[in-house]
Amino acid sequence: MPKGLEPRLVLATRNAGKLREFRELLRGQVPGLDVDTQVIDAATAGVPDVPETGVTFEENSLLKARAVAAATGLVAVADDSGLAVDVLGGAPGIFSARWSGAHGDDEKNLRLLLGQLSDIDEPHRGAAFVCAASVVSADTEHVERGELRGTLLTSPRGTGGFGYDPIFQPSGLSRSCAELSAPEKNEISHRGQALRALLPYIVSSLR
Ligand code: IMP
Repeated sequence: MPKGLEPRLVLATRNAGKLREFRELLRGQVPGLDVDTQVIDAATAGVPDVPETGVTFEENSLLKARAVAAATGLVAVADDSGLAVDVLGGAPGIFSARWSGAHGDDEKNLRLLLGQLSDIDEPHRGAAFVCAASVVSADTEHVERGELRGTLLTSPRGTGGFGYDPIFQPSGLSRSCAELSAPEKNEISHRGQALRALLPYIVSSLR
């Protein structure tokens, strides 16, 4: 690898949708960081999955970033995120990726949730996407939170994004997250908000 292009930042996730969004959110935002050559993911770094034993988004986000920073010696950025449904008291919440029991089976998770809400009509279908994004280096750590309010649709719409995007319509819009372009989603999303708040801490961790 040419000098100066060694990896400097690890994204502590194996979720392809999140990786795509993180890369786009970081692009051009951190002086001197080449997102295509100096940002790697946990699988490329050879770090095994980190058990999510925390009970809040913030705890799980920090657990993942700490484990990946310790294993690689690099600055690590992680998020823990999910969908909090009002009528379910905030569930699936931190269990969003494993709601149907199968970790990361987006289609199964979405179908299970739609079934659970089948008798609930529009005014009561409020929900929020929540994200806690964190950065951990050898000597510092910081976590930030972002939230996007919206309504759950009764059937999936759109082909973009990942996870629950096809059934989540942000407040004030008439399209689901899966019908937004990637830049449109990043502009308003829980992950976009949390990562933008985290940027100054990422910049100083990489100095
Ligand atoms: P985590 O890897 O434990 O943080 O799991 C996050 C889960 O929450 C994902 O697998 C999705 O099911 C859901 N999720 C988080 N962010 C989004 C998003 O931006 N769109 C759709 N689903 C999301």
